Amino acid sequence: MTDHDLFQHVAAQAAAFRDSLPGRSIPAPDPQLAQAAFGGPLPEQGAEPEEVINQLIAAAEPGLVASPGPRFFGFVVGGALPAAAAADMLATGWDQCAFNSVLSPAAQAAETAAGGWLKDVLGLPAGASVGFVTGAQAANTVGLACGRDHVFAEAGYDVARSGLVGAPRVRVLASQERHATIDRSLRLLGLGTDVIEAVRTDANGAMDMADLARVVSEGPAGVPMILCLQAGNVNTGAIDDLRTGCELGHQAGAWVHVDGAFGLWAAANPATASLLDGADQADSWCCDGHKWLNVPYDSAFAIVSRPELHQRVMSYRAAYLVGSRAEGEMADYTPESSRRARGFAVWAALRQLGRAGLADLIARNCALTRQFADGLAAAGFEIGNDVVLNQALVSFGDDEHTGRVIAAVQNAGVCWFGGTTWRDRAYMRIAVSNYATTQADVDRCVEHIVAVAAATA
Ligand SMILES: *Cc1c(COP(=O)(O)O)cnc(C)c1O
Repeated sequence: MTDHDLFQHVAAQAAAFRDSLPGRSIPAPDPQLAQAAFGGPLPEQGAEPEEVINQLIAAAEPGLVASPGPRFFGFVVGGALPAAAAADMLATGWDQCAFNSVLSPAAQAAETAAGGWLKDVLGLPAGASVGFVTGAQAANTVGLACGRDHVFAEAGYDVARSGLVGAPRVRVLASQERHATIDRSLRLLGLGTDVIEAVRTDANGAMDMADLARVVSEGPAGVPMILCLQAGNVNTGAIDDLRTGCELGHQAGAWVHVDGAFGLWAAANPATASLLDGADQADSWCCDGHKWLNVPYDSAFAIVSRPELHQRVMSYRAAYLVGSRAEGEMADYTPESSRRARGFAVWAALRQLGRAGLADLIARNCALTRQFADGLAAAGFEIGNDVVLNQALVSFGDDEHTGRVIAAVQNAGVCWFGGTTWRDRAYMRIAVSNYATTQADVDRCVEHIVAVAAATA
């Protein structure tokens, strides 16, 4: 097989997997089976590429999950739009290093263009800088790193040079229901988690702004402060009152970061855009491409209102780079140095959807989430949250019974939902973020869940 034939063969395999998604059962993955298929010592001798690829396909097949399919509602995974997935295959074929414009003017141009479109559809300042990172974890880390360096600089301390040993005190205010990646970012940034002052949440899991005002004012004055807001509570979809949060934070001199991994996308749909009112007032934003934009893994955006600061915090200089780069290119905004050209898939996703298609994707997923909640409520089950976005929580009675229903639904393979604990109660968590999910899919799932729950009584 020539290289050319090999790539065609692989493309056909990828296409066949995608074609299989709507009809594919979503089995409970058996990690041991997959481990056995891939295991064994490294053979002494190499093998033909075709043989390797066929082995890989055979080994992977039983362990592949139909998570990009239309009836997978666990976590917040999204699917992969055809143009985006195909563009990512090109990114691999082209093997461009998205470091700077010397290495790939095309990658740089795609990220610049896609970054501009992103700021536009998300309603963020046109002058902000965009780093194309792996995920919201990395985007939160970049935003908080910029915040850390900025608030210390305001206090006359250069953390980039002097590190945190001997640094002045700092405050980090974040919601009780913040995403756990915020804690990991703070650990990675050397700030630790003890620094967090948790702000209470309201009935639906958004930050309680009166409590934020209390926490801000009760703490010591004049201490550098970072405020972390959230757009999209992972359990309820609740979005913090960003305008008030930014005002309270800025009055106290804080850097305001918004973790909008999926919730920020609500800004792209006129019907939900008001939930993001004031988002543009923040200093940094985290947003995922691989969730609601339906770009393949891995893809997210670290957006910062001050490009010079963003560059100062994330870039490096080296002798071999002199004369081969301009300021403010791709690697200046990300924690990675060399990396894949993520911008092609993002550009392709936005270009496939257009402004109207993106609004429609968000609106449809929100409507389908409502359809789930209404259907399950009509069957007598309790919806635990106010469904404001694409997240719904369902209880099937006591926690133990809810757990058994979730397990039975997962085992049946028709659709997949995860479990969660919210406000000390167990729920099945429904997250709708795939472009391919239809009303008929949701009807079928509701009917199925009701039947499984009845059989699990
Ligand atoms: C998913 C999520 C994250 C983490 O995102 P990754 O892309 O997995 O790194 C962070 N914050 C929120 C609110 C999320 O929903």
